[in-house]
This record gives sequence, C-alpha cells and structure tokens, in this order.
Amino acid sequence: MTKAKALIIPVTPFQQNCTLLWCEATKRAVVIDPGGDLPDIERAIAQANVVVDKIWLTHGHIDHVGGAADLRAKLKVPIEGPHRSDLFLLENVVESAKMFGLRGASNVTPDRWLEEGQQVEVGELTFDVLHCPGHSPGSVAYINSAQRLAIVGDVLFAGSVGRTDLPGGDQRQLLKSIRDKLLPLQDDVTVISGHGPITTIGQERATNSFLQQATTASG
Ligand SMILES: [Zn+2]
Ligand SMILES: [Zn+2]
Repeated sequence: MTKAKALIIPVTPFQQNCTLLWCEATKRAVVIDPGGDLPDIERAIAQANVVVDKIWLTHGHIDHVGGAADLRAKLKVPIEGPHRSDLFLLENVVESAKMFGLRGASNVTPDRWLEEGQQVEVGELTFDVLHCPGHSPGSVAYINSAQRLAIVGDVLFAGSVGRTDLPGGDQRQLLKSIRDKLLPLQDDVTVISGHGPITTIGQERATNSFLQQATTASG
C-alpha cells in the first residue's frame, strides 16, 4: 500500500508544526501550514527529496499561514483550504504580523476553499476534509483513514484543545467539533497538531481532560 511520510518543521516564534507530508510511491508532497521560516521549509523539502504539488492550510492564524503566499509564489503550486469562514483572518495576516512584531508575513487568498466532506489529494494519497470550527470559524482537519493519520491544526493538542479566546473562537463549538468529528476516529489514528508533540486519538480519548467535557457537552 502507498505510504504517507511526514516531516515536522517547527516555524515562527510560536513553534508551529509546519508539516511536509508526502506520498512515498510518487514522492509528491504537500506543505501544510507554512507559517514562516521558509528557508527551513525549503531545506526540509530538499532533504526529503520530494516535489511539492500543493499547500494546505488548516486555518487562518498567522503562525500557520504567514509564509503561504510567498511559498506559493516560489513553488508555483495552489493553496487549498481552509474553510471560507476564515477569510477575515487571511485578510488580516499583515495586521497581526505588526501586532506580534513578526516580519515577512503576507495576506493570502487560497486557490480553493474547502468544505466538510470534500477530499484533497497528494500523489496517491487522499485525505477527507472535516470542517471543525471553534478555535477559528474556518478550521479544517485532514484525515487519511487508510494511513491512520489526522492533521488537525489547532483543534486538538496532546493533552489540550485549541484556545477559543481569539476572534471567531467558540468553546462550545470547538468541543462539539472534537466530539462529532475527531472522537469518532479510531484509537490508533496518529494526530499531528499545530503545536507540540504528535499524539493519537486513543491517547487523547484516555487522558485528555478537555475531551471528557467534549463527550458530555450538549448541542
Ligand atoms: Zn490557531
Ligand atoms: Zn497555531
């Protein structure tokens, strides 16, 4: 079976997990959430010896998208995701860069907005798109059931969940997204989050205290 491989490149002062993900059979790759530090990302691409076909975004926060427009211009590949509800964030990247004192971040318009139930492809790998609002209104997760792999952005972390105090955040909605979209995945699914270590659905189901709230939350 075609295998997925991933290399995590922490970028920006927020140590965001930019992920270089590729199809082992074809060596075609996607860069997920190029928040900044493009030289580090380009080095990883060269090291993995893969050809990048696409950029995927999980949501519109600066640490995830700050370098996306520049990387698109360099690699001449389309940007897919997130959900259209994060448009207001993607139009505000330069402003937030000023606020955080970051350099070189650009506003970005994706080539393709994503919605619940759509699929995205890289090489021979296909990922299902889940719309998981709450951390931001347009957050999406990318799921490959065959590879037991979920890329979830800032929706779910090892031992924690995404913050909901930023514009458009909604804690009730976040817990509902986790309960309805992520918890139905099987325990052996590996989770790559936007920050911090890799985990699994089983590990989080068993130990993440926020998920107890998620399973009991109503509505
Ligand atoms: Zn975020
Ligand atoms: Zn983040």
